[in-house]
Amino acid sequence: ASAMIARRDALLGPAYRLMYERPLHIVRGEGVWLIDSEGRRYLDIYNNVTSLGHCHPAVTEAICRQAQTLATNTRYLHDTILELAERLLATVPETGLSHLMLTCTGSEANDLAYRIAKVRTGGTGVIVTDTAYHGITDTVSQFSPSLGLTVDLGAHVRLVPAPRLYHAEGADLSERFTRDVEAAIADLRRHGIKPAAMIVDSLFTSDGILPDPAGFLKGAVDAIKRAGGLFIADEVQPGFGRTGTHMWGFQRHGVVPDIVTMGKPMGNGQPIAGILATADALAEFGVKSRYFNTFAGNTVSCAAALAVLETIERDRLMANAATVGNNLRDGIAQLATRHEAIGDVRGTGMFVGVELVSDRRSRTPDRALTGQVVNRMRNKGILLSACAMGHNVLKIRPPLVLSADQAGLVTEALDEALDEAKAAAHN
Ligand code: PMP
Repeated sequence: ASAMIARRDALLGPAYRLMYERPLHIVRGEGVWLIDSEGRRYLDIYNNVTSLGHCHPAVTEAICRQAQTLATNTRYLHDTILELAERLLATVPETGLSHLMLTCTGSEANDLAYRIAKVRTGGTGVIVTDTAYHGITDTVSQFSPSLGLTVDLGAHVRLVPAPRLYHAEGADLSERFTRDVEAAIADLRRHGIKPAAMIVDSLFTSDGILPDPAGFLKGAVDAIKRAGGLFIADEVQPGFGRTGTHMWGFQRHGVVPDIVTMGKPMGNGQPIAGILATADALAEFGVKSRYFNTFAGNTVSCAAALAVLETIERDRLMANAATVGNNLRDGIAQLATRHEAIGDVRGTGMFVGVELVSDRRSRTPDRALTGQVVNRMRNKGILLSACAMGHNVLKIRPPLVLSADQAGLVTEALDEALDEAKAAAHN
């Protein structure tokens, strides 16, 4: 592997990162499994692009069929994109969301959503949470604080503390979050900046996976709308049934976005992303701007996305996400009786956050232990990673098809990894 790493560094330069102390050379994917160049199998509970499992036959067949027939763009009439729009819009009844626009990446979707918000509101101000990630374009990276110190936040960007229930000490999280958003709006105004939008990942996944209590977003959404700004729900991570209870994370909170952005699992690996928007949000933008994005909405990607939606429905994957996700959380919560380091286990559906602390009373983040556990899990053949400001929350996003037995493998390995990490710390 070291020769390959050196070759990669030489060819691709310094901006790319590999996961794990011992990077993986994966050659094949099959359902929940990834297989490396030596034939070893890894349970992939991290890759939330391949939400149906790797190389799902319904998707690969749809891609092949369409690629053999026609690969063109949105400048020609084509049924598949219309069918896709109808099916996606059917998931958001009674919201006023009425149009689909397609992009190739989640970053592009957020970039487009922000452009639309600027045109609609005449403002530029953006409110996001303090450890949010919304993407990689120059514009969107300015409101993606989790990228770290290399990216300057824009002068038009205001951060609010992520709604961390585990650290809220009994405070009313909804009230606190609303107050923080109102203060951010007031601060923008004080600087002569008109608010354009509040953008949140409705599961706050890079902030540490913060789903509860469902409903806490309502006051903040009302506040941004009252201030004339749009509410943009970034569903790149929570979308497509991952929450187990709803197709989209914002639906858990009982709020209605002006724009929804989506990506990642939309094509189960095929690059397709996009937005749903209200007619009102799009009206002026559509008159002032044309929108053509060469690859976005191409017939092959649309065929893949249709197959994804059909499979989620046909195989009742949302229900599986709810049941097996709960099993997994219960199993890990059981481990907390033996492992002091587990401070909190949370999530919804197939999204699980495990917050590791060095002291349960002070809830002090244990970043070193978290890094150890991630690498020990990899060595045991289970792939996951970490997130949050303290880099101390295990981020677990299994494919929606994970079985109860496979969830059991995760719990067993985590039990061992925590024991080993503790023993290593004492040596
Ligand atoms: N929003 C969120 C919440 C994300 O997690 C990501 C990707 N990690 C993006 C946007 C950007 O998506 P992409 O990498 O497809 O540009």
